Amino acid sequence: RPFRNLTLPLKTPGAQKWLMLSARPESSNNGTMLISFRGVATDVTAAKQAEAHISYLAHYDALTDLANRSLFNDMLAHALRRKARDERLCLLYLDIDHFKAVNDTLGHPVGDKLLQVVARRLEEVCRDCDVVGRLGGDEFAVLVSNNMAQDRLADLCDQISAALNLPIQVDGQQLLVGTSIGVAVFVEGECDADELMQRADLALYAAKEAGRNCWCPFQPGMVEAAQLRRQLELDLRAALGRGELVLHYQPLINCETEETVCYEALVRWHHPERGVMMPDSFITIAEDCGLIVQLGEWVLRKALHDAALWPEHIRVSVNLSPAQMGSPNLISTIISALSASGVVPERLELEITESVLLKKSEENKALLHQIRKIGVRISLDDFGTGYSSLNYLRSFPFDKIKIDRSFVNDIDSREDSRAIVRAVTDLARSLSMTTTAEGVERPEQLAQLIAEGCTEAQGFLFGRPQPLEAFPELRPLDQELLRLRPAGSITALPIILGKNSDPTIIESLRKQA
Ligand code: C2E
Ligand code: MG
Ligand code: MG
Repeated sequence: RPFRNLTLPLKTPGAQKWLMLSARPESSNNGTMLISFRGVATDVTAAKQAEAHISYLAHYDALTDLANRSLFNDMLAHALRRKARDERLCLLYLDIDHFKAVNDTLGHPVGDKLLQVVARRLEEVCRDCDVVGRLGGDEFAVLVSNNMAQDRLADLCDQISAALNLPIQVDGQQLLVGTSIGVAVFVEGECDADELMQRADLALYAAKEAGRNCWCPFQPGMVEAAQLRRQLELDLRAALGRGELVLHYQPLINCETEETVCYEALVRWHHPERGVMMPDSFITIAEDCGLIVQLGEWVLRKALHDAALWPEHIRVSVNLSPAQMGSPNLISTIISALSASGVVPERLELEITESVLLKKSEENKALLHQIRKIGVRISLDDFGTGYSSLNYLRSFPFDKIKIDRSFVNDIDSREDSRAIVRAVTDLARSLSMTTTAEGVERPEQLAQLIAEGCTEAQGFLFGRPQPLEAFPELRPLDQELLRLRPAGSITALPIILGKNSDPTIIESLRKQA
C-alpha cells in the first residue's frame, strides 16, 4: 500500500539521522506482482533535532539544566500517584535570600552564574533518586522520595543550607548567600500535588518570616494564617478608602530641657470587626502586597497636614518603609505633601531602618541624599536590631540615630547595654548626629541616658502614642489657625480640631469658607 511521511531513524557512523519516507508500490507490467516502491526520502534530521530541543526547553531550565516547573510538577504528581502505600514523600521549596540584591547590584550575568552554582550544589547534596528542579527566578525545589526518615530529612535541610552558605566565586567576586527552605511531608491520601506545593510554599514563607537562611516544616495552622493574611489584605485595600486608618502621636523630648521637640506619627487601623490593630500586624501585609506606597503616602500627608497647625518649633517624624523606597514617586510625593501642608521641610523627619541600606544600598543612598537636599531630616530607626554595623553610620550622613529600646531597657542595670549606648552616642556626636533613646519607661533609665550623652528620649515615661486630640499643646491658637488655613479648607476641620476645640474657631472658619 502507499504510505506517506513515515519517519525512519537511521544510525550512520558517528551520527543519528532521520529520514522521512513517502512512497507508492510499483507492480509488474501485468499488475499481478509487487516489484518495488517508488517515492521520496527526505533528510529531516535538523527538524528532528529542533523538535527534541524544543521538547527539552519545555521540560528543562536552560540556565541550570534542572527540571523546570512544568516537568517538576508532572514528576511530583506522578510520584504521588505511584508511591507505595506507606511511603513518605517530602517536598522542599527553596528561595535564595536577597537574590534580587545580587541581580540589582552586580548585574544579571552574575546572578545567572550564581544560580548555576546553586543548582550544582543542590545536585551534589541530594541523592540520585531525588528530583531537583528550578521553579523560576531564584526558587528551587527538591522532591525527596524513598521514605526518608524525619531526622535524615532534617540533616538534608542542614546540608543544603551549609552547602549554599559556602562562598560562591563568580567572575573573581566572592558572593555569600543563604537560603530559606519550606518543608512539606506527604501523608497518605491527605492532599494532592498542588496542595503539597502550597504547603511547602507556606512553610517557606514561615522560614522567611523567621529571619531567612533557615528551614521550616509545614504546620496546619499556616493555612489559616495565610487565609487571614489574604483577608486582611483585602480589608486593608478598602480601609484606606473608608478612612479606617488613624494616626497616633508620641512625643520625643529633649533630655536636657525635658521639652517636647517632636512627635512621631504611628499608624493604627480601626478594623470594623477586629477593633484597633497595631502596625506590627498589618505593615508587613501592606509591604508584601504593595499597598504600603499608598498607605505611606496617606500617613505622610496626614501627619504634615496635622503638623501644619502645631507650634513651629515642634517637628513631626514619619516612618518610611523600605518598600516605599522602591516607589519612583517617593520624592515627588514628599515635595507635594510638604507644599500642600505648608510645613517647612526642616520640620519633617523621615525614619528609615538599616535594611534600607542593606538592599539596593547605592540606589537607596542616592535617594536619601536627594531627600536630604530638599531639607528633610533622616533618622536611622531601631538602631541595634539589624546588622548594627557602625559602618552604616559612616555610610550615610544621618541627622539622627534612634537607639532601639532593647538597649535602653536594661541600661540602668547592665554595663554592656550602657557601653553600647555610650559607643553610639560618642560616634553620633563626632559625626554631628543627634541621638534619640527609644522605649524609655523609668526615670532611672533617663538619668543613665543623660549621663551617656543622649540628646532626645521617647517612651511611655513621657507619653504613650495617642490621638492628636490628647495633646492640648498641639491645638493652635485661634489667630494662628486662621492665618494657616486658607479659605476653602473647611472640610478638613473635623480632623484638625477634634471635639474639644473652641467652637468660635469653627464658626469663624465657616464664615471665611
Ligand atoms: P517604631 O518606629 O520604632 O515606633 C516605636 C514603637 O515603640 C511604637 O510601637 C511605640 O508604641 C513603641 N513604644 C514607644 N515607647 C515605648 C515604651 O516606652 N515601651 C514600649 N514597650 N514600647 C514603646 P507601634 O506604634 O506599635 O509601632 C511599631 C512599629 O510599626 C514602629 O516602630 C514602626 O516601625 C512601624 N510603624 C508605625 N507606624 C508606621 C507607619 O506609618 N509607616 C510605617 N512604614 N511603619 C510604621
Ligand atoms: Mg519609628
Ligand atoms: Mg523605633
